[in-house]
Amino acid sequence: MTARIIDGKEFAAGVRKRVKAAAEAFRQKQGVPVGLTVVLVGNDPASEIYVRLKVSDAREVSIDSRDIKLPATASEQEVLDVVRRLNADPAVHGVLVQFPVPAQVRQEAVLDVLSPDKDVDGLTALSAGRLASGRPGLVSCTPQGCLMLVKSVRPRLDGLDAVVIGRSQLVGKPMGQLLLQENCTVTTAHSKTRDLKEVVSRADILVAAVGRAEMVRGSWIKPGAIVIDVGMNRVDLPGGKSKLYGDVAYDEALQVASAITPVPGGVGPMTRACLLRNTVLAACAQAGMDPLAGL
Ligand code: NAP
Repeated sequence: MTARIIDGKEFAAGVRKRVKAAAEAFRQKQGVPVGLTVVLVGNDPASEIYVRLKVSDAREVSIDSRDIKLPATASEQEVLDVVRRLNADPAVHGVLVQFPVPAQVRQEAVLDVLSPDKDVDGLTALSAGRLASGRPGLVSCTPQGCLMLVKSVRPRLDGLDAVVIGRSQLVGKPMGQLLLQENCTVTTAHSKTRDLKEVVSRADILVAAVGRAEMVRGSWIKPGAIVIDVGMNRVDLPGGKSKLYGDVAYDEALQVASAITPVPGGVGPMTRACLLRNTVLAACAQAGMDPLAGL
């Protein structure tokens, strides 16, 4: 058996198309565009690229996006004041502070002032609490994208055994919550898990979010499992080149799984698309408007 390859790029293109239609419907009904503001503190080159991509991704789907740049020397108070101002600005529906922030600014302090209604990254403690207690709220983009990819191959997940490797606030924990909401029996594995191979071998759905190139071998995977590979591990090759690897040994897993996401081209594009989707969902919730069905 060779697994079906889940094309995250193509799926994300569909999401972006629906988000654009919903953003345009919002503008028509409300008379104002959906607004996203990205805050960058400092000038880390990688962060600058991510912010530029987020702003341009948003513009492509008719979201009015802008960035606010603060110097690397900005105090925590200055950053918190900017976030508070954006919380109160009715033209801004989504706010994202690009992490990491410089050492003098505490990430938790930033997240603690950010309104959960505008938390399009789904990172605040209130967003996590809403998810854990099954209330409506904004969900972290990567796990939301992973769930959409799983459901693209298997719409009903009731009763399936799901294993998530990783327990980060960003990916592993919300992923487990989302799969639980879909009535899976969820196991969360981490660095202290005993006999990871045995745990993985029980998974009908496997989500690997570890950060270790090809750690999960094909022989660990249950035949027919759906495999979602979140890992993005850049490995240096001879000759000054490098290659991106997932957390799953892709060629091996391809022979065993029923469906698998590639790296790159799997989860990554969905993370980007889900940020846009969250922004429109946030705007609709703030306006008391139903988003377009199927968003
Ligand atoms: P993280 O915060 O470093 O968390 C990694 C998790 O993996 C931790 O819970 C850790 O366990 C666990 N782990 C580490 N070594 C392990 C081992 N040998 N066996 C089992 N579990 C182990 O990372 P993250 O932010 O969740 O990201 C995970 C990966 O996804 C990274 O490669 C990252 O680049 C990638 N990522 C991709 C996207 C995307 O859009 N494609 C988005 C976000 C992240 P402990 O908790 O016990 O330390």
